[in-house]
Amino acid sequence: MSRVALRADVLGDGHLSLAWDAHPNPSRHTLLIQRTGSVPAYTSIGLDGSLRRYEILSLSRHQRYLVCMLASRGKKTACSDWLSVTPRAGLAALPSEELRGFESRIARVDRLHVMPQERRLTAFWHCSPGFADKVAVELMRGRRLLGRLMLEPEVKSVALDASRGIAIEPGKRHTIKLFTLFAGTAVQGPPPVVCTPAPQGHEREANREHPQAHLIYPTLSLAPELRIFEDESYGDDEPELEIRCAHCRAEVHWQDYRLLCSRCGAEFIPNGRGEYLECSRLRFGTCQCCLPRKILVQKAGSSSLVCAHSGKEHIRMPGRGGYSLIEDLPYGLCQCCRPRQPLVRSGETIRCSRSGELHENQDGQYVWAPSQPVFDASAIDELLDAGLAEICSTGVSRRRN
Ligand SMILES: [Zn+2]
Ligand SMILES: [Zn+2]
Ligand SMILES: [Zn+2]
Repeated sequence: MSRVALRADVLGDGHLSLAWDAHPNPSRHTLLIQRTGSVPAYTSIGLDGSLRRYEILSLSRHQRYLVCMLASRGKKTACSDWLSVTPRAGLAALPSEELRGFESRIARVDRLHVMPQERRLTAFWHCSPGFADKVAVELMRGRRLLGRLMLEPEVKSVALDASRGIAIEPGKRHTIKLFTLFAGTAVQGPPPVVCTPAPQGHEREANREHPQAHLIYPTLSLAPELRIFEDESYGDDEPELEIRCAHCRAEVHWQDYRLLCSRCGAEFIPNGRGEYLECSRLRFGTCQCCLPRKILVQKAGSSSLVCAHSGKEHIRMPGRGGYSLIEDLPYGLCQCCRPRQPLVRSGETIRCSRSGELHENQDGQYVWAPSQPVFDASAIDELLDAGLAEICSTGVSRRRN
């Protein structure tokens, strides 16, 4: 495809007008925005292919942005030159020599950890700042591809198990690999992680032969929950704790990663402060991301629920019982809001659940067909302040080891 000719005009403080030509007619456009500074921040907006003009309001007039427009059809992508813009009245946009193309600014998965369990492998990862349409997770057993998930870049961990149609076989060697995708370009993540799923209590033994640096194991011990000072270590012989069911006084044991009463079957979860809560009495129930399950809590001033352990958002979908994780949303997230919101079906169309804006599926990605070619960037700028990695407070935050 030929190049895209992009023009940018500063119409006033914080007000940027963009116009472009692209030939032949693309099926989608992607507006790339990088905020410069010592810690660059990135965001992109997927737009309908018929759009030729777009305005952004409420940018910060104290910041300098680099903008670029991509036009795509199928696997073909054309790119404009980058423009440097400080959205302050009287300043003009300038061609920028800082960047060529977009490939060097694609986010890369730079950390990957895997937790093997009996019939479930959970991957946790971190992406470097940059542009991404999808994070791809590939699971192999031997040479056989068991599954490939295409996830929103906001997703930071995923459980691979039967609930996603993936048959994990205990005792067999599995390999997990991640890469990021942006505008048809794939960027490989860290080396694949090898692990062997095994029943509760045998995970370490089964994985002894593999490199350990990127493996983590489920915690079923109850004792650390009572530890008051972080630096107090009980070593290997942690005090044996016995907890009894609140209903029938029978002993409670870990069974398939669940804390169950051996007599009446009541289920409990540790709340991390030395108390055990009965699952059936929890207001919002337990999370869907962790095993052992953790408590769901409501974020202050919001209706969204997050796992108290992983921070993963659990989304209530109209017309569905229970909660969904971002990776399970049928249409993924919108392009029109920051943080991005779930897309939902409305009659024959797919719309943003918050703004109601129309989205169309182009080459497997939902792009926004704006009702007004004007975007209020105040949310984007807040987002860029927070760093793109924290768009949604999803995923387990794990510090670099
Ligand atoms: Zn009981
Ligand atoms: Zn969880
Ligand atoms: Zn939206």
